[in-house]
Amino acid sequence: MEMMKAGRLGAKKLIVFDLDGTLAPSKGKIDAETAGLLARLLAVRKVAVIGGGKYSLFRSQLAEAFARIPKPLLPRLFLFPTTSTAFYRYDKGWKNIYKLALSKRERARIKKAFREVFREAGYRGPEKVYGKTIEDRGTQVTFSALGQEVVARLGKRGFKMKDEWRKKYAPLKIKMAKLLARRLPGLEVRAAGYTSIDVTKKGIDKAYGIRQIEKYLRIPARDMAFVGDALFPGGNDYAARRTGADCVAVRGPADTKSIIKKILTGAGAEDMMSSRQAHAGISQQLSRNKDDRGRGRAKHRGFHAHGTRAALPGDDRNRLRTPAR
Ligand SMILES: [Mg+2]
Repeated sequence: MEMMKAGRLGAKKLIVFDLDGTLAPSKGKIDAETAGLLARLLAVRKVAVIGGGKYSLFRSQLAEAFARIPKPLLPRLFLFPTTSTAFYRYDKGWKNIYKLALSKRERARIKKAFREVFREAGYRGPEKVYGKTIEDRGTQVTFSALGQEVVARLGKRGFKMKDEWRKKYAPLKIKMAKLLARRLPGLEVRAAGYTSIDVTKKGIDKAYGIRQIEKYLRIPARDMAFVGDALFPGGNDYAARRTGADCVAVRGPADTKSIIKKILTGAGAEDMMSSRQAHAGISQQLSRNKDDRGRGRAKHRGFHAHGTRAALPGDDRNRLRTPAR
């Protein structure tokens, strides 16, 4: 996990989270603690969630959060399912703002290309699968090696199976994604998630999502922090790094929880600082926060002045490793 000072994160207007592998286990539900932290975060910051799953899956993965977030805060939460090919926001109920649907012809072409590529690569799926292996999500067609429902039906065991598949087949999956891209030149093909390949309209990735957030919410990327588990080269969050948003690499939901706690602490400190009513009893704590914030800003300046970024732990990972979503 990249260490980032509370002050730097606390200054962001909007926090963008990847969903699978960041807020929740891949295709799984967020836990009660994350849900509670998200509800608290929404009280002080706007939050966007971008992930590969379709909208209905998003709703079920985030169900625990919806149960906890007070209704007046829901308009501060923005959902970008299917890799931000769709955008939903709350305004007296969840409303779809845009949707980049693939045409019927495109979707048929994609499914045919998948079948051809499986033959060419000599790929035979496992004998038992859980739900569809090629799912037409309207805005995205997704191949999931073990079937869409594997985690929904088997829970932790399903997640373990996905992890095992990933370890065994990552290079083959990347090869198949390349073959597929050759057959679908007008479309975007991504080896995503543990066991998935996604196809969408061209130019769709996490950077596209961040640009849509800029456009619809009028918040510049530099005022956003992006939190994701696949910010390494080849990972499906990597594109976020070229947007100007500060990127925070995490290894999984546990790291994400610490990041949210850090933001909450930072935001709390800011509120205290601005109140000018801090009495002597907490002045020591305040000055410690102040130091942190100063260092955070210095690091922030360096980040932009040198046109570089802070080192991310994933940079030395095997590039063939399948990006976790
Ligand atoms: Mg992820």
